[in-house]
Amino acid sequence: MIKSTSSTLSKIRTDFIGLDTVYTLADGRKTARTYLDSTASTLMMGLVHDLMEEFLDHYANSHSVLHFSAKITTKEYKWAHERILSFLNADPDQYTCFFTGSGTTAGINRLARVFREYRKEKDVVIVSIMEHHSNDLPHRKHSNKVVHVSLENQELGNPGSLDLEVLEKTLSLYKGRVNYVSITGISNVTGIINPIYDIAEIAHNHGAFVIIDGAQMAAHMPVKISGHSNPKRNIDAFVFSGHKTYAPGSPGVVICRKDILTNIEPEEVGGGMVDDVFIDNYIIKNNFPDREEAGTPNIPGAVALAASIEVLDTIGLEKIYKKEEELVLSTMEKMIQIEDLIIYGEKDTNKCTRAGSISFNIRGLDHGFVAAVLNDYFNIAVRNECFCAHPYVKELILEDLLVAATDIPEDELELKYKLIAGMVRASFGIYSQPQDVDMLISSLKEIIRDREKFKKLYHVDKHGNYIHNEFKMELDDRFSMSERIKTLLS
Ligand code: PMP
Repeated sequence: MIKSTSSTLSKIRTDFIGLDTVYTLADGRKTARTYLDSTASTLMMGLVHDLMEEFLDHYANSHSVLHFSAKITTKEYKWAHERILSFLNADPDQYTCFFTGSGTTAGINRLARVFREYRKEKDVVIVSIMEHHSNDLPHRKHSNKVVHVSLENQELGNPGSLDLEVLEKTLSLYKGRVNYVSITGISNVTGIINPIYDIAEIAHNHGAFVIIDGAQMAAHMPVKISGHSNPKRNIDAFVFSGHKTYAPGSPGVVICRKDILTNIEPEEVGGGMVDDVFIDNYIIKNNFPDREEAGTPNIPGAVALAASIEVLDTIGLEKIYKKEEELVLSTMEKMIQIEDLIIYGEKDTNKCTRAGSISFNIRGLDHGFVAAVLNDYFNIAVRNECFCAHPYVKELILEDLLVAATDIPEDELELKYKLIAGMVRASFGIYSQPQDVDMLISSLKEIIRDREKFKKLYHVDKHGNYIHNEFKMELDDRFSMSERIKTLLS
């Protein structure tokens, strides 16, 4: 590993592609965008982009074996697997790592099928209500029953956080039936961090496995899959995506205990995972990860992902976490000061740690309107709506409505929820800087102050989108791949 110096982080932080992309705004100004949508996808590390150009000189198929490029490609692809296991502290004797199709979603779908096959007799899966749909629907599809641990009525009183006592009670209620607990490491809505090792211990005490959706965790804080002094705190399977780890275009990654996978036929079959094939049967390879990776893999994506985490590891995830925590805490502090801003989830960060994301609304303004104005007038890229976590978003909004008026009738509450039904999310990555936060805060203040002026500039279309009355970015004028090709070939 390259040696980290105190300047490595500051050097890397400014070296991301797209940090200085300029757009023309609704008022005619041209400014560099402020990217606060890293929870959806992170920007690409410049260093990794350059290294990938070097790597592509040697690009070949990893299933070819003899020529020079095939050997180099195969070596680097193997390195990618090893690098990921060591990055997440997963013992390579016990765990394998393999790449899957479309991000974390593909990995969780795969694991839902694997775990169902492994323990058919255990028909219940426990998830929490704070899950992204990708860590909810695959279990609904592949298991008999999914129980959602609700965050309601918690005695601990940390809004938006998972209550371990409720988890424990749910495990007891379904005694002997729970195959696994599948929980997100960090919420993609509130950024609330879950105590994954405590969750693993509780699940294991009840004979259940634990899967961690690491989509928001892998690039933000250190992870230790195995090697805990109490082995019950080890994680059985962990999934994450490269596009949230500063390597766009890369696949999803699954890290899983080999003993679970060895006992069932791989879920996907085809070339590369068999020793021999006859007309009436086939012999599956014993070795990992080959047996789990049918077909030609996304080699550049996997290598870029591993290169990116090598850089993160060199800087040190503890250092990255601390830096990002400072930024999230200072953003929260500043947001709390703004009247009319609703921040969702527990706001006392001593009680409840957060990383990566903060979701909010401006009281009385639609999330779609706020996100549109932030984009069109301030060049701030944020996400809005429900972030593929509808049940959690709904629960958080209802909770806020209830705090405001406890005696509100249920049908009125439901109607009020429908009017809001979404949030704005500001999210951060390693490249996010205090000036990005200042930009967000001053823009929110301006929107609140001049809300009537901004409202007059927009109308709502039949799909509920906020459309500027005059300004429209011509996407093709800004960038068109086919036009670029025509120009370059002419
Ligand atoms: N889980 C969480 C917590 C996420 O934030 C996301 C993506 N927003 C996913 C799962 C799905 O990841 P992907 O888009 O890589 O499939």
